[in-house]
Amino acid sequence: MQKLKDFMVLGEKEENQLRQNFVSASRNSDFQTLIRTLPVSEDVLMKYTSLLEDASKELGHCLSCKGLSSCGNSVCGYRFQPKVENGVHPTLQFEYVACPFLQKKLKEEAYLDNIEMFQVAKSLRKASIADIKTDDKERLQILRYFKQFLDHYDEEEKPKGLYLYGSFGTGKTYLIAALLNELARRGVRSAMVYYPEFLRGLKESFDLDYKEKFSFVKKVPVLLLDDIGAEAASVWGRDEILGSILQFRMEEGLPTFFTSNLTLEELEEHLATAGKSVEKVKARRIVERIRYMSIAIPLISKNRRKGKENA
Ligand code: ADP
Ligand code: MG
Repeated sequence: MQKLKDFMVLGEKEENQLRQNFVSASRNSDFQTLIRTLPVSEDVLMKYTSLLEDASKELGHCLSCKGLSSCGNSVCGYRFQPKVENGVHPTLQFEYVACPFLQKKLKEEAYLDNIEMFQVAKSLRKASIADIKTDDKERLQILRYFKQFLDHYDEEEKPKGLYLYGSFGTGKTYLIAALLNELARRGVRSAMVYYPEFLRGLKESFDLDYKEKFSFVKKVPVLLLDDIGAEAASVWGRDEILGSILQFRMEEGLPTFFTSNLTLEELEEHLATAGKSVEKVKARRIVERIRYMSIAIPLISKNRRKGKENA
């Protein structure tokens, strides 16, 4: 938008003052570098001396910058800079533009928008297949499966997920997170859901929020239900939530991954004790769905967590 001062006819005294300020600012080499890039006359430039000085300071920082961590500009990763607007009278507009370092970072991290995280550690965003050590045969088997999964994901019939079980801290969640990160890089959307918290949150959330979250998790192309079996057992959680999620995903052929401290037999027992009476049939039906939808692999190895936590 053109401003009033762009059209103002200046008095001789004012014009001399503007010119003096401009000449004085032009002694600075960054200022010179900046104005050389602007295809407008000095008469236009001198109306913006003070803003051009701010912009040239930022340009100076950028010219000697090594990366975002040493950014000296007023808004990290952005440069305050002028742009010529060619209207009836050429004018300058000033704007904050993301620098090449920030642009590169944003581009590199854009894939993360493909993963929705529900109460899982943010550090899982960094999990990477390349960092998985194949020091045991289960992990090697899982990596082979990941390769197959990635190779065949685009096919009409999607590959099955995994049911990874084993004691606390063996890297189950990390492994699946690494696969989902790789899928995200390839443009596949997914969700990582810490199941016990998700269930608790769902119970407490309002109607609309509840419907949205529930429907999202049901329909997301790839899902991780993390730590299934660690939730407080309830008939509602088992039949209304878990049952419906699995039913929908099974019918639609949507890959679903699970991690658990429990074997499938133990999970069945856990789910059976949800009601007042032991409901073996309902629990068995859920576990049958999990068996149908996923391949169960045990992960037994040393605890990778720092400190001495217990399951
Ligand atoms: P689990 O889900 O089996 O309880 P986690 O996936 O939470 O275990 O892993 C336990 C810890 O070890 C986490 O802090 C995780 O970041 C780390 N970890 C697991 N696998 C790896 C790996 N391959 N490389 C680096 N850190 C790992
Ligand atoms: Mg875990």
